[in-house]
Amino acid sequence: MTSPATPLSLAALRTGLPVLWASSADRAAAALPAFNGISRADVDRSVARLARFAPLLERLFPELEASAGRIESDLAATPHLQEALGLGAGHGTLMVKGDHGLPVAGSIKARGGIHEVLEHAEAVALAAGLLPEGLQSDYRLLATPVARTLFGRHKVAVGSTGNLGLAIGVMASALGFQAVVHMSADAKQWKKDRLRRRGVEVVEHVGDYAEAVAAGRRAADADPLCHFVDDEQSLSLLLGYSAAAPHLARQLAAAGRTVDATHPLFVYLPCGVGGAPGGIAFGLAQIYGPHVHCFFAEPTRSPCFLVEMLAGTPLLSHLGEHPSVYDVGQDNRTEADGLAVPRASEMAAAVVRPFIGGVYTVEDETLFRQLHTAAVTEGIRIEPSAAAGMSGPAMLLGSDAGRDYLRRHGLEPHLPNATHIAWTTGGLFVPDEEYARFRARGAIAAGQPA
Ligand SMILES: *Cc1c(COP(=O)(O)O)cnc(C)c1O
Repeated sequence: MTSPATPLSLAALRTGLPVLWASSADRAAAALPAFNGISRADVDRSVARLARFAPLLERLFPELEASAGRIESDLAATPHLQEALGLGAGHGTLMVKGDHGLPVAGSIKARGGIHEVLEHAEAVALAAGLLPEGLQSDYRLLATPVARTLFGRHKVAVGSTGNLGLAIGVMASALGFQAVVHMSADAKQWKKDRLRRRGVEVVEHVGDYAEAVAAGRRAADADPLCHFVDDEQSLSLLLGYSAAAPHLARQLAAAGRTVDATHPLFVYLPCGVGGAPGGIAFGLAQIYGPHVHCFFAEPTRSPCFLVEMLAGTPLLSHLGEHPSVYDVGQDNRTEADGLAVPRASEMAAAVVRPFIGGVYTVEDETLFRQLHTAAVTEGIRIEPSAAAGMSGPAMLLGSDAGRDYLRRHGLEPHLPNATHIAWTTGGLFVPDEEYARFRARGAIAAGQPA
């Protein structure tokens, strides 16, 4: 396959050229049972928590009736998209994990964000004695007026570029919490409007995502009844995301896709601060060990996780320990608002460093082009951020760094058996007129009629 990847260099980072960095870590480390104090048991605890809350969620959200309160997405083979992306059968099978259609929040944030709100609600309710049989209680009790009055005395706050705010705000307000969302300058107007319609307080900041988070953290620190969802440091978020992994494993098995030493699994995950892809990669590593290869995808203008992974290497030896995209001359300006993050989560970086396959970057025009291609070939409706995973196969198979990774791990002979999963992370609630603009721009980038 051909790929737009250029060799990794400071100049390429600064000029915003697409690059792939592949980890040189020993893949055997990926077989370890636990990393940084969290383990498979923590993944299972998140799965169990989401299951306990399912009857309540079914009651609170009519759109969850069909799934009995479970918030999950489809895994689908996408042969037409695979062909359009130029991925030949000799290189494996492309599938799409459709978090762009996740109900309630409309993005991958439904996993982590909703999990953290539920964990907090559970703790508040248990402390107040509202769940008489503890974790065995019928959680529909939490929709009663008594519970709502209790939650109404508490506040849940978050800083966000948009999608996390949507997930937290919608879930917190549905339970009766006061909800406050601190939005960065790049947050889209429709996301703010949607939250305000639900009674969520939206505080607009002129600065970037990191500043919105810092402002939210400060405001919450001053209020003992306020729980701040900290996108940069929250283990509850990360573990909520990780709950996707056991479910994906069941979907792969049901689709007849084997994952083992001769059937590698490649997963391409759009990355902002790193919590969502980090949690999912962690959960998958617990299940598949060294046989799953997770690659994180970032905009060329916001490569925060890439620079975090490169910190301390010769390329970035002139920078400190926790560099930002500004430090490599980037500006964090991208239409992929879900990924517009200047500095990665140090926690997510520490969790995935031993086993991440690599990180690559994508230009905005490529995101729009592939957003368009996904719609034309498979009828998939996504936002620009969610397209970043689709470049994965070409970046890996078509770049020197990627081919070197495959060779090093002896993967080349097994490529025909490989499964490639592009994780599409958002889009359900994008307003039609906004989506039409994305499509028009994508059609131009693809040189096709809209
Ligand atoms: C937030 C988000 C991501 C990435 O999640 P992080 O935890 O910030 O890395 C990817 N895609 C979309 C659409 C998002 O909203």
